[in-house]
Amino acid sequence: MNRIDEISKNLSDVREKISSAAIKAGRAPAEITLIAVTKTFPTLDLQILYELGLREFGENRDQEAAKKVELLPSDITWHFQGGIQSNKLKSICSWASVIHSVDRYRYAQKISECSNEKEMKIFIQVSLDEPVESRGGVDPKKLIDLAEQISLLPNISIMGLMAVAPVDQPPEPALARLQQIDQDFKSRFKEAKYLSAGMSGDYETAISYGATHLRIGSSILGNRSLIK
Ligand SMILES: *Cc1c(COP(=O)(O)O)cnc(C)c1O
Repeated sequence: MNRIDEISKNLSDVREKISSAAIKAGRAPAEITLIAVTKTFPTLDLQILYELGLREFGENRDQEAAKKVELLPSDITWHFQGGIQSNKLKSICSWASVIHSVDRYRYAQKISECSNEKEMKIFIQVSLDEPVESRGGVDPKKLIDLAEQISLLPNISIMGLMAVAPVDQPPEPALARLQQIDQDFKSRFKEAKYLSAGMSGDYETAISYGATHLRIGSSILGNRSLIK
């Protein structure tokens, strides 16, 4: 199979599974945003996805993403979901519209400063790990305080929470816990309507627990380890 057919088939499989999972959960497929996580994949693959109608792309590294952004059409919404390094934020702000991995106040402060009057959309990453915060994300116990501080900053809009399920464990208990944390969060921050959760291994489960923004890489583009 050539690369276009391969990506096209993977993408339609994923879209079908998203639709079925949404319907099964009593939700409208249209309320779910699919972000193609394109980190490590060549620009050609992104062009194929663009031709197939994708307009939401997610990247983890500033330098790699900045190059791709220049080569692709301007009607793409770029998401950043990688670990944040303070010194990269200014550049990330220049190409990304949505930053999913904000877990410290000083990152939000920097984003607010570099946003250049445009409204930056962010998700606050919450840790579901044990030990807590070991792989990024704020301790759920500190979440409300952090969000209250961030909500006072200009030029930032809090879209909701983001989380990554723990590795090497069934995702269900963690995603169920995330839904609880998210419901409590939304009751205090009414404008935070969204939930960024669900990757290749767990997106159908994530949909059943309320995810609105899925970040999917390998199910669409294949195994990243093969191209490194
Ligand atoms: C790489 C990555 C994804 C996509 O992972 P897949 O398992 O390839 O779908 C999603 N979210 C984050 C934060 C990532 O780093």
